[in-house]
Amino acid sequence: MARLIDGKTVALKVRTEVAEQVAQFKEQFGRAPGLHVILAGEDGASAVYVRNKEKAAEEVGMTGRVHRLPVGVKESELLALIAQLNRDPMVDGILVQLPLPPGVPSEQVLSAIDPRKDVDGFHAQNVHALWTGQPGLVPCTPRGCIRLLKEAQVVLAGARAVVVGRSNIVGKPMAGLLLQENATVTIAHSRTQDLAARCREADVLIAAIGRPKWITADFVKPGAVVIDVGMNRDEAGKLCGDVDFAVVETIASAITPVPGGVGPMTIAMLLDNTLQAARARQSRAAS
Ligand code: NDP
Repeated sequence: MARLIDGKTVALKVRTEVAEQVAQFKEQFGRAPGLHVILAGEDGASAVYVRNKEKAAEEVGMTGRVHRLPVGVKESELLALIAQLNRDPMVDGILVQLPLPPGVPSEQVLSAIDPRKDVDGFHAQNVHALWTGQPGLVPCTPRGCIRLLKEAQVVLAGARAVVVGRSNIVGKPMAGLLLQENATVTIAHSRTQDLAARCREADVLIAAIGRPKWITADFVKPGAVVIDVGMNRDEAGKLCGDVDFAVVETIASAITPVPGGVGPMTIAMLLDNTLQAARARQSRAAS
């Protein structure tokens, strides 16, 4: 039976570390790191995610607020708000909750954020930094997966890693981070031939597909470590991952559950990214 990689416990550890460091930051600089979230439109799931982010930021002692904009917001209004937050010295992190309302191009909006305040790590400058080994802000979910693997003491150097999914927010940055850890990385996607065989080559298998329980016994080498990024609903409407947990936990050596695996790590790493951005800004101000 696989060892459970417990994201709730690791996320709590990260949040506690961040809270301690926020207290030190306040003492040193006389202010708390500030996280500002922009929520445009009325997407129900987005509203819940944003509330959770707001609560988590408050709990670690950060300042900031949620800027709620109507579904009919114009691109120009959104850009004006971002420009204002870019200039504001009390703002360290800016996050635009996706998806944006129809007709508002997310690429233009995301690229308007000052890359040094881009705590989601989606700005082209941060993507470039990730792939060229420069310092920058890294997307929260893949960063959370790496932290989980490290906490579970999984050896990544020289390991064969397969990432299923190539989205800009999960699959691609995940592959970049695994490469930085010296894993040998394969990125698989919907056009990959014989996906099960590719996945069976993995010592570390990351599923970021968005299809309930897609990864079954055939996809997993005995003893592999399996990280399930997926957040889906099964036929009964219950939250489940991309991995058929009940089957795969009998084959893998370690596995993340859904819920309670990667999910809690995303917000924890957002807080950590905000702290990093705040520190970087203070050290630029001092130099
Ligand atoms: P996207 O829909 O943007 O990307 C899905 C990827 O999976 C694509 O690259 C697609 O391939 C690939 N894919 C889809 N179907 C198959 C298939 N049958 N075989 C192989 N590859 C396939 O999703 P995201 O990356 O945004 O999210 C992935 C999952 O992770 C979702 O369940 C999402 O809810 C979850 N998620 C969870 C987070 C968390 O905090 N836990 C945060 C972000 C996402 P192609 O490119 O060829 O279309």
